[in-house]
Amino acid sequence: MFDTFLKAKNTIKGFVQKVHSPHPALNDSLEGDIQAFLIDEDQLHTYDDLTKVNPVTPTTVLKCLQARYSVKVFYTNAGCTLVALNPFQPFPDLYSLDVMKEYHCAPQPQEFKPHIFIVAEEAYRNVQGQLEPVNQSLVVSGESGAGKTWTSRCLMKYYATVAASSSVLKSQDTVERIERRVLDSNPIMEAFGNACTLRNNNSSRFGKYIQLQLDRCQLLVGASVQTYLLEKTRVACQLANERNFHIFYQMMKGATDEQRKEWKMPCGQHFVWLPNSEKTLEEDCFLETVAAMVHLGINAERQRQIFKILAGILQLGNLNFSSSTDESQPCNLDEQAAELLCVPAEELQMCFRVRTLKAGKQSVLKPCSQAECSMRRDCLAKAIYAQLFEWLVTFINNSICAGTSTWCNFIGVLDVYGFECFQINNLEQLCINYANEKLQQHFVAHYLRAQQEEYVSEGLEWSFVKYKDNQSCLDLLERSPVGVFSLLNEESRLNRASDPKTFRVRLEKELGDNANISWDKFSKEPHFTVAHYAGKVNYQMEGMVEKNKDPVPPELINLLQKSDSPLLHQIFTDSETENPTTKGLSKVTVVSKFKNSLESLMKILHSTTPHYTRCIKPNPDCNPMSFKKEEVIMQLEACGIVETIHISAAGFPIRALWSFFGVLTCVAVVSQLDLLEDQRKKILSQCAFSIQCCWQRYQRRRCHARQQSATLIQAGKPLMPW
Ligand code: ADP
Ligand code: MG
Repeated sequence: MFDTFLKAKNTIKGFVQKVHSPHPALNDSLEGDIQAFLIDEDQLHTYDDLTKVNPVTPTTVLKCLQARYSVKVFYTNAGCTLVALNPFQPFPDLYSLDVMKEYHCAPQPQEFKPHIFIVAEEAYRNVQGQLEPVNQSLVVSGESGAGKTWTSRCLMKYYATVAASSSVLKSQDTVERIERRVLDSNPIMEAFGNACTLRNNNSSRFGKYIQLQLDRCQLLVGASVQTYLLEKTRVACQLANERNFHIFYQMMKGATDEQRKEWKMPCGQHFVWLPNSEKTLEEDCFLETVAAMVHLGINAERQRQIFKILAGILQLGNLNFSSSTDESQPCNLDEQAAELLCVPAEELQMCFRVRTLKAGKQSVLKPCSQAECSMRRDCLAKAIYAQLFEWLVTFINNSICAGTSTWCNFIGVLDVYGFECFQINNLEQLCINYANEKLQQHFVAHYLRAQQEEYVSEGLEWSFVKYKDNQSCLDLLERSPVGVFSLLNEESRLNRASDPKTFRVRLEKELGDNANISWDKFSKEPHFTVAHYAGKVNYQMEGMVEKNKDPVPPELINLLQKSDSPLLHQIFTDSETENPTTKGLSKVTVVSKFKNSLESLMKILHSTTPHYTRCIKPNPDCNPMSFKKEEVIMQLEACGIVETIHISAAGFPIRALWSFFGVLTCVAVVSQLDLLEDQRKKILSQCAFSIQCCWQRYQRRRCHARQQSATLIQAGKPLMPW
């Protein structure tokens, strides 16, 4: 068998040299590709593209990635996607300035070994499209700890370097400022939006889409950030062995004596909402956060206001409510919290302990139970933190966003939570997995469409690729009026205490015959199971409606609007007036808000050329250079990598090469078979035609890439600003 293969291989080489005398540079890659036919496990680490693995199965893909990881190769192409394995160990030489320079200056970076900088560079060159500029999106996905944020930061650094404004055009000072400011948005957002979790010491608890704005000369002139679904519950509730948001620990550890006094945060003070503070992390760097704030223009007075509010939140966490519901009992802690939040202490107490019920035009005051008091306290803390985070994002945008007349194109970087399936899943997972369904649909649609267009333009016969269409699952979730989200919203609007059992009955009645949703008849817990493209997920219904309502008692909002803290006053007044139709904070459900922001994101993504990077976490413990097969295969399945490879292989350049070799093999075999001369001629002439098409297609691609870099050079673009 092997002999026959070698014979065929030699015939192919002879054929290639005799008939096509291809470009000498390609001879090497031909050699490499022919090697790919050999299923030689010793050579698996050399496969730069998973479309070359044959057959493509989760196991062969896994083996290939493992082989590459073991020789410290972390990037592998999967056709149109880049797979990035997290080494959990720094490899500075892989990302140095020299490496950036090399990729940026190369006429054809695609010919280098796979790397995140190739994706970055390709997007950068694509922006200046041949006919008209095309905005680009870099979608980075993967599970928590897989390396999404790290990769996004790496991409931002790349652009802040290669697209840095030339010092000829602007003063050195300005040059320094804009790129630095864009990069400085990271430490601030990470301090306020990241936390140490069981999966990742620096886990982002929000999704982020950042648009890097380029001017006509493709220089970075600004950026804007959009965030999604901050996990605000973490402020008031942390799982065992997890922590609150980094910023609280940074303050606790980095405050000066004077600040401690002002923030009522003496050394050694215990805060209930600051668990595991003995853990020291790299991320506990208060000074870095403050320096970034200064850089972005948050002045000392604003910083004072921000930190006082945060200290106030910590004090809220230490409040205890006695079961006697005796609201007259003043408490020292109440006063401290009130002082930091700049609100009257008695009113703060009243807000927690007494509820105002409206009956027609009359208001009735009703004392709250102990549990209700705690709930109202948590609610206040979450609302303040979420509004503060939103204010920060707006401030950052105002500071780094270029004027509309300055920029004309953008490269967007999307860092979103990957598909999640835990022991217990609730509304957060439902939203996250919905977002992933949307992205998967976009991914498939985009690549299939691109493939179809390519075939049509080349006059090649169109062959359909079978792929899992997830439209039915999306319909189940988002269809109105009978979809999970609509029904959940309906349930949330009802003015009564939510009962998971009634919601479940409603779902079963309306969606019982939908194949994408099911119920375990024997389970006592109310739940439903959704068949996502990446697998089935069981969602618990307990608390789901309440989470969706996300109610903030009006008394609390009124109180904060009266705060003497200019910042608190502003963020709560703005939030109420901004959205008068929905009555601000109190009436929009979580899924409605999320669905709307996701729809705008999808619109942007549809208007751009996307590039997908799938980050993979090779082991659950974040250990350097450890590859756990079970862990990886689950992620490969969750991101549908095998399908991705099939889709890519059906229409992308590597596939052109692949079919090229397929036909060549056929030629080789045919020339060695005993056939009638006529038959042989007929088959060979058909093969020759196919080879010609594949070959032209491949050359066109190469030519296109060359032209793109030439355009950049001709346009006087500083390929490298050093
Ligand atoms: P995610 O955003 O997907 O949850 P992160 O980007 O925070 O994950 O990555 C988790 C950790 O993995 C980072 O803090 C970093 O230490 C490490 N890491 C990720 N990617 C790389 C890489 N390419 N090289 C070295 N370390 C990495
Ligand atoms: Mg992250």
